Amino acid sequence: MANKNVQNAAAEPKMSRNRYAELKQMLDGRRKELHAQVQGKMRGVREEGAWGGKLNEVLDAVESAEADIQEDIEFALVQMKSETLNKINDALVRLEQGDYGYCYDCGEEIAEKRLRALPFAVRCKDCEEARENAEQRERQMAARRGTSSLFLDM
Ligand SMILES: [Zn+2]
Repeated sequence: MANKNVQNAAAEPKMSRNRYAELKQMLDGRRKELHAQVQGKMRGVREEGAWGGKLNEVLDAVESAEADIQEDIEFALVQMKSETLNKINDALVRLEQGDYGYCYDCGEEIAEKRLRALPFAVRCKDCEEARENAEQRERQMAARRGTSSLFLDM
C-alpha cells in the first residue's frame, strides 16, 4: 500500500501501538468517570444552593453547622476530583507526545499493571523502591544526627 499518510512521523511514540491504545483507553475511561462525578456533584451543589437560603431558616443552628461541614467536605471532594481530572488531562497530553508511562529514572516502560493502579506513577517499581529505600536511609541518618544539625545550620 503506497499510503503517503505518514501521520505523526516526527512524534511517533517509541511505545507499541498496543500499549498506547491500552493506556489511552485507561486514561480516557478514568477521565469520563471523573468528569461525570464532578458534573453530577456540581449540579447537586447548585440545586442545594437554590434552596439554601430558605433551608437555613428552618434548620436549627446545629443542623445548619452540620450541613456546612457536609458542604465543605463535598466541595473538597469535588476539588480533589477536579485536580485528578487535570492530572489525567496532562497524562493524556504526555501520552500523545510519547512521554507518558516511562520511568523518570531509568527510562524503561512502567508496567501497565502499575499504571492502572497508579496512573500518575513517574517511576517503575524497581526505581520507586530504590528511591524509597534511599529516602528511608536518609531519614534515619537525619534522625541519628538529631536536632543538633538544625542548630548548626543557624
Ligand atoms: Zn525505573
